[in-house]
Amino acid sequence: MLIERRVKILNINGLHARPATRFAEMANKFNSDIFVRTEEKEEVNGKSIIDLLTLGAKRGTEILITADGEDEEIALDVLEGLVNDRFNEDNMETRKGIAVAPGVVIKEAFVLESEGYRIPRHLIKEDEIDKEIARLEEATSSAWKEIEKLEESVSKNLGSQIGSIFATHKLMLQDKQLMREFSERVQDNNLSAEYAVSLVLRVYIKKFENVDDPYLSARVGDIYDIEKRLLRNLLGEKREELKNLTEEVIVVAHDLSPSQIASLDTTKVRGFVTDIGSRNSHSAIVARALGIPAVVGLGTATVDIFGGDRVIIDGNRGVVIVRPDEKTIKEYQSIEKDFYVFEEKLSSEFKDLPAVTLDGREVSILGNIEFPRDIGPSVSQGATGIGLYRTEFLYLGSKDIPTEEDHFNAYTQSIQELGTKPIIIRTLDLGGDKFFPANNNKELNPFLGCRSIRYCLENPKIFKSQLRAILRASAAGNVKILFPMISSLQELRQAKDFVKEVMEEMNQEGIDFDEKIEIGIMIEVPSAAMVADDLAKEVDFFSIGTNDLIQYTLAVDRSNDKVAHLYSPAHPAILRLLKMIIKAAEENNIKIGICGEMGGEIEYTILLLGLGLREFSVAPAMIIPEVKKIIRSVTYERAKEVAETACSYNDPAETTEYLRNIAREIIPELIY
Ligand code: PEP
Ligand code: MG
Repeated sequence: MLIERRVKILNINGLHARPATRFAEMANKFNSDIFVRTEEKEEVNGKSIIDLLTLGAKRGTEILITADGEDEEIALDVLEGLVNDRFNEDNMETRKGIAVAPGVVIKEAFVLESEGYRIPRHLIKEDEIDKEIARLEEATSSAWKEIEKLEESVSKNLGSQIGSIFATHKLMLQDKQLMREFSERVQDNNLSAEYAVSLVLRVYIKKFENVDDPYLSARVGDIYDIEKRLLRNLLGEKREELKNLTEEVIVVAHDLSPSQIASLDTTKVRGFVTDIGSRNSHSAIVARALGIPAVVGLGTATVDIFGGDRVIIDGNRGVVIVRPDEKTIKEYQSIEKDFYVFEEKLSSEFKDLPAVTLDGREVSILGNIEFPRDIGPSVSQGATGIGLYRTEFLYLGSKDIPTEEDHFNAYTQSIQELGTKPIIIRTLDLGGDKFFPANNNKELNPFLGCRSIRYCLENPKIFKSQLRAILRASAAGNVKILFPMISSLQELRQAKDFVKEVMEEMNQEGIDFDEKIEIGIMIEVPSAAMVADDLAKEVDFFSIGTNDLIQYTLAVDRSNDKVAHLYSPAHPAILRLLKMIIKAAEENNIKIGICGEMGGEIEYTILLLGLGLREFSVAPAMIIPEVKKIIRSVTYERAKEVAETACSYNDPAETTEYLRNIAREIIPELIY
């Protein structure tokens, strides 16, 4: 017997994709047939997400739900309850992720698809249907041609067996049933071609994902490929990309590479959240440099947050609030204001004061940069120079390999900004999680592969052109060279031989440079820490790269949120290595500083000071006044005691808690 219920849609956004998904999922749990209709639209299948969406039921619309079957009564009770509960839709959700960049922001979400663009989710007008179908057909035929070309070239290069992988994709695009479904969505339901493609394929993806057969579930990858190809063809120039944003938004993405983050337009992108990521990846480091709040490692942000949802990012605590209620928004508006007022006050009080302990031990605070444009903010917050210039960012944003002139121009621009202040230019650290876009030598284990100095030693042309540019720049400014990822004395000597060779060539060509340019190395590989006393005899300075030192010592991938809880600067192994490195530098009378993120985390400042460090290179710029405040609040004697106590613990959590409590007494506003 068929039964029915009338119920009003109450949630703010109406029956859009997420509520429709919830309704259909629930309806599918019952054996009865379930249908839904509104005053204006005819009955649709209540178990189909796409059908439900076509009702276009806005807030306030009354829907009629009918059920027919053995469990009709209970089905209607449950579905009515779901609608009355606003599909649990307006419920605010609070998520905890990994805080990577501080600050608070409240904006609407812009959800990026995996290809980096947004699919317009809109309905079309009746008179646009023909045009839309034509677009769909054109896109399908272009995609088919692309795949055929790919199949040909792959077969030629790798053999027909490999090439035949693409035959499946071609068959899918010839599938009459699939094509019919696309055009039906456009024709019958007035969906845009992009939206129709995406919805139909997503339904298939869901179906495939739910099957037990591993061969069949692996087909999901093929469907994603087809979806991307069709969307690329459909959206063409119209793609709504990050580059063309017109409003201020919070970007929600699965992941963002360091170069994607570096090229964000921060006048529009006011913050971002990602499904994966960690605090010490290069993406996180660049995010902090941009000065926009960011939280990563949220797991399913791209699935649960919809474009247009209001989102709060609390980058201080690593909290993201989706669809906040009015009370929460007000609360965060005031937190946002207080945070910026506090930072402003701290900056004006400390930026121009020297970093000196209460008993007169002087410390240098320098800035870490990825681009010359970051120098201004560092210096204006009180940096007395640049302690780490990550020059590989010149490569990350570029299609072609940067020339000697490109390097030279970037260094000259930096020197112009700095005047006589020092700049430590680190030679290329490509590989790991930073790749030149044109690189197609993907390694299985890039952090342990041909990364950094290894890459340079294997590519003398690239290495020498950078060294020439640094040396040319040294004629005009206070420039030092820093080699990354040195893991042995032999590697250091090889790198230094290159410098010697380039110097000889430049002498012959009569090009000016600083003959006494200082050469230093990053100590960021455990082997380098272990032989630091040997290395110290052949360099002018050490710069401790704790980001990699921790990753390599503790065997914890710095970019992987799954093991982020194991990544601890306070691990006794790290503290012992730090002591060893500092001792080697002191005994050999060379300078030593820290440029890893640990140096900018204020809970560790007193510990590092007490271990003997007098040079901190930190980022982002806003951290400089914070570090200064801590240094100016303690004596060196007290810092040594703190370091001794910290080194006596064998549980990193205990050490961190001890250090946080001390820092909290000095800056309670910043230790959460
Ligand atoms: C480090 O490893 O600590 C470091 C400063 O280098 P990067 O973060 O660029 O690898
Ligand atoms: Mg490093």
